[in-house]
Amino acid sequence: MTEQIEDFTIKFFQNLKCKLSKVGEFLIVENVPKSFEDLLGTSPPYKINFTTPGVNHFVGKGSLMFTTMTKYLSGTGKTTLLKIDFDVDPVKEIKSAISLENCEIDNLEKRHRNNFFSRFTFVTTFRYMNESEQIINEIYIHNGKIVNGDLSGYTVTEGESDKASSNHIKKDYKTAKEILKEILNKKTAEIGENLEKKAEEEIARINIHYDKLIRELGTDLATQLEKVKKTELSLRTAPQEEIENLRTKLDRLKKSLIKIGDDDARVRVLKEKEFTIKDAIHKHSLSVDNKLANTTIIYYPVFSFNLFLKGDSSGRFIEMNYDPLTKTLNKLNCESCGKEISKINLCSAGHISCDDCLSTCNDCGKTFCKNCLKRSCSICGKSLCKSCFIVCHGCGKSICKEHLRKDCVTGDERCRNCLRACLRCHGMTQEKYFGIAIDGSKVCQKCLGEEKRKDAMDRIFRN
Ligand SMILES: [Zn+2]
Ligand SMILES: [Zn+2]
Ligand SMILES: [Zn+2]
Ligand SMILES: [Zn+2]
Ligand SMILES: [Zn+2]
Ligand SMILES: [Zn+2]
Repeated sequence: MTEQIEDFTIKFFQNLKCKLSKVGEFLIVENVPKSFEDLLGTSPPYKINFTTPGVNHFVGKGSLMFTTMTKYLSGTGKTTLLKIDFDVDPVKEIKSAISLENCEIDNLEKRHRNNFFSRFTFVTTFRYMNESEQIINEIYIHNGKIVNGDLSGYTVTEGESDKASSNHIKKDYKTAKEILKEILNKKTAEIGENLEKKAEEEIARINIHYDKLIRELGTDLATQLEKVKKTELSLRTAPQEEIENLRTKLDRLKKSLIKIGDDDARVRVLKEKEFTIKDAIHKHSLSVDNKLANTTIIYYPVFSFNLFLKGDSSGRFIEMNYDPLTKTLNKLNCESCGKEISKINLCSAGHISCDDCLSTCNDCGKTFCKNCLKRSCSICGKSLCKSCFIVCHGCGKSICKEHLRKDCVTGDERCRNCLRACLRCHGMTQEKYFGIAIDGSKVCQKCLGEEKRKDAMDRIFRN
């Protein structure tokens, strides 16, 4: 019994492609699939003994290792839930991915949701020619796609059962099965080809053997068979007009064949040949059986960082997502040109900008993004921010402070181009407010009023 268990154990771990070695009495097992490790609940290497119960890991009937092995093979392995823990420092992660040029992180809130992936362990048994071969495939599915699974190096703990949704397991399982089919295709084709070759060889041997037997029973039958074969062959390639003739000939030959074959011995030989060929084909057929040994749902946190960036004269809330498994932070884009950025510049209005899209307002000197500096003075061409540009009431164009003038008649503010200078008072006003003074010069209405007032006064004093 012990010997049987020992054989079983060695074969089991060999099938799992583990590394086996002998150290004294012990069988050392390494490179164990994670799904088996999880099912057993202990990490390899396993130091196995077959004689002393109580010494780790004893393998005998009823022992934990033994029941786990049978459970694993029968596919009754439960669904395992694993959780990967990550210790993430948001500020460190952000600063390693992005440089903050003119701002700093003022406030940060870390939240997380769970992301899942599934691992399916399939035990596939190939049966052919009284042999059976087992292979194990572990398939990891993440977001509906196969991924390279390797949990080594992560802190893995047992998960909580309410974290997994059966819906997504079903979907992943479907994907995994399709992938398994692809993986097995090559192996199945390989074995199949090999078997076909062997079957052909075997059938050829059977043919030779029985042909010889039939020849021995009477050359007559062999000759007739040869004729049947020949006629059948020429029937395949014969021109239309000869087909009828050949068919009649073939009919006649076959009838005579039955007559010859009436001989019991010949009939028996032919039947036996048929049976032997069928048996050979059956013996060389391949059956493939897949069993799901274990399903593992692995979940891990995906973080979202809500942070407040504080610049010299502005601030901005942004949300960043961080996947600790892929160690990736979501990409940030310049809000002006859309280019992906690895440096954050904060414009004075709180926009995120790349280096190229950042410039200063020629008036107040503050830093702004392209979107904030769309306007310029129609007279001097200076770029102007939102708070530095002025709209002229006359022409409606934007202008800078320097090119703004006060209308000395109405008190309105207008651009220099919309006003004309009065040569008498050096004030500026619109063209329509000019009139002719007593001396014939064109002056503003303010000056005209003054002149009138002075004239009236003069008259009063003169009287
Ligand atoms: Zn840009
Ligand atoms: Zn400005
Ligand atoms: Zn801006
Ligand atoms: Zn200007
Ligand atoms: Zn104007
Ligand atoms: Zn004037």
